[in-house]
Amino acid sequence: MTARIIDGKALAEKVREEIAQRAAELTAQGVQPCLAVILVGEDPASAVYVRNKVAGCEKAGFRSLKFTYPVDVAPEVVFAKIAELNADATVHGILVQLPLPKQFDADKVLEAISPEKDVDGFHAENFGLLLQGRKSFYPCTPWGVMKMLDSEGVQLKRMEAVVIGRSNIVGKPMAVMLLSRGATVTVCHSQTKDLAFHTKRADLVVAAVGRAKFLTGDMIKPGAVVVDVGINRDADGKLCGDVDFDTARDVASLLTPVPGGVGPMTITMLLANTVESAQRVLEAKQQ
Ligand code: NDP
Repeated sequence: MTARIIDGKALAEKVREEIAQRAAELTAQGVQPCLAVILVGEDPASAVYVRNKVAGCEKAGFRSLKFTYPVDVAPEVVFAKIAELNADATVHGILVQLPLPKQFDADKVLEAISPEKDVDGFHAENFGLLLQGRKSFYPCTPWGVMKMLDSEGVQLKRMEAVVIGRSNIVGKPMAVMLLSRGATVTVCHSQTKDLAFHTKRADLVVAAVGRAKFLTGDMIKPGAVVVDVGINRDADGKLCGDVDFDTARDVASLLTPVPGGVGPMTITMLLANTVESAQRVLEAKQQ
């Protein structure tokens, strides 16, 4: 079997066109979607992510604000900026790029963002709503994965799904989203006794581990759907995922590539959350 490859880039472009259309309609009604991004320090990967987020906003017709601080900035300065942005009615989304330098308690920073503007979906209130199956801002990466699966017509009901990774930003919300759609979900992590036992019986595997080419073809059930969330560098410094693409493609039925898979969908869903937040503001104004 040779897996069909899910083109995340093409899907992202299609969804972004719809978002740009919604943004234009909102702007015409006096509410231009606006995302504010806070970047602390000079981590090169974070700088690239922020640049792509700002560019994504601008291309979709959003207003974007960027605030950068030196690595040794006092946390109070950043908290004050978050409070100011929370109070600014023209700002619909606030994002603090992670990781933060060691003087910060990242949980406290994320909690300081108003849940109504938490377009990353990391605030405990939004995560709690997700757990309860209620409307919230969904974390962008797992939501992007759901969009990809839906775009391929993957029927999640009754599926055996295995998520590898239990982080708050990918693994846990991914598991909750799959569960809410009727999959039977197993979450694996670094303490899992026999990982291959679980992955080999899964109809769907989502790998969010952070280890290059970790999931190999012999760990995958023939015909399974495999989603690769990882962003790593291989021994030659080339971008690669958590899945060993070359061996996995001979076993899986559907597979996401790296690059060009989940990555482009993550920023797309950030834009989707921001436009949704702006829509809620407009609706509140009209009431
Ligand atoms: P974390 O490091 O927070 O979590 C990694 C998870 O993998 C942990 O739960 C860890 O288990 C588990 N793990 C580590 N080693 C093993 C192992 N040997 N066997 C089984 N499980 C293991 O990473 P993130 O969730 O933040 O990100 C995961 C990957 O996804 C990274 O490559 C990251 O760069 C990428 N990423 C990609 C995004 C995109 O847009 N495409 C967005 C966000 C992340 P334990 O909890 O026990 O330590």
